Amino acid sequence: MIDLPVVEGRAERKRKPDWLRVKLPIGENYKRVRNLVDKYQLHTICQSGHCPNMGECWGAGTATFMILGNTCTRSCSFCAVKTGRPPEYDEDEPRRVAEAIKLMEVKHAVITSVNRDELKDRGAEIWHQTVALTKELSPKTTIETLIPDVKANWEALERMISAGQEVVSHNMETVERLYRKVRPQGKYKRSLEEIQRIKNFGKRTKTGFMVGLGETDDEVFQIMDDLLEHGCDVLTIGQYLQPTKMHLEVASYVHPDKFAEYKEVGLQKGFDYVESGPLVRSSYHSERHL
Ligand code: SF4
Repeated sequence: MIDLPVVEGRAERKRKPDWLRVKLPIGENYKRVRNLVDKYQLHTICQSGHCPNMGECWGAGTATFMILGNTCTRSCSFCAVKTGRPPEYDEDEPRRVAEAIKLMEVKHAVITSVNRDELKDRGAEIWHQTVALTKELSPKTTIETLIPDVKANWEALERMISAGQEVVSHNMETVERLYRKVRPQGKYKRSLEEIQRIKNFGKRTKTGFMVGLGETDDEVFQIMDDLLEHGCDVLTIGQYLQPTKMHLEVASYVHPDKFAEYKEVGLQKGFDYVESGPLVRSSYHSERHL
């Protein structure tokens, strides 16, 4: 455990607080999800991202599949997903994801991917096939796709989001000032434009960002305003947790009361739905975001 600098007015204590304790991943549902993931040789952001909610989500029989492999072309300083040059993508992956979702018998599925900046279409074709096949095999299942930054390739974006998914999410991750430190290959305004274009395409839009990275309240309120100006419907806010010692340190553990305040402010400002809490992740309780 590391000693953390206190950010005035927001850090409640230096050590990992009790409110970040989570359930251990056990139980029949957990085993069933784990077996499916192994059998179909799939990747999940739950595992690759060291998500603290695996006990709860997998215990409830759900997981978030990560497509286009498990090697990301970006090197965000907060993210536990492996970075590097990915191998050729797996053309059979859409079928395996769709079959696994069918066997999971979930009402709502969430799919995400790594960034594949080396691909001309940013992986849009595999995205399209995965969602279309999932809809074909599980027509009653609603789908949220948490998509990457397409680097202003708007043609790729359209292909990615036009396979019948109900919700399209693109995460901002942090406030504008911290982009260089947290998400060096990303651009704040470009991500806002991506959200605006998803909205213009007629989709329900969603984003998420982390707190505890050194942002101020004013910056949090500013990103909310920017998102609303760009047509964002649903917002998730969660605590940043350092996945390994090689990643960015936590600047503060934000108190649950502050998360409650963010939720209230977000709703007052005009979001349709705000999920805000220390353990909230983009795909956490996502069935409520429809
Ligand atoms: S919150 Fe999302 S990433 Fe975390 S375990 Fe649940 S489904 Fe997986």
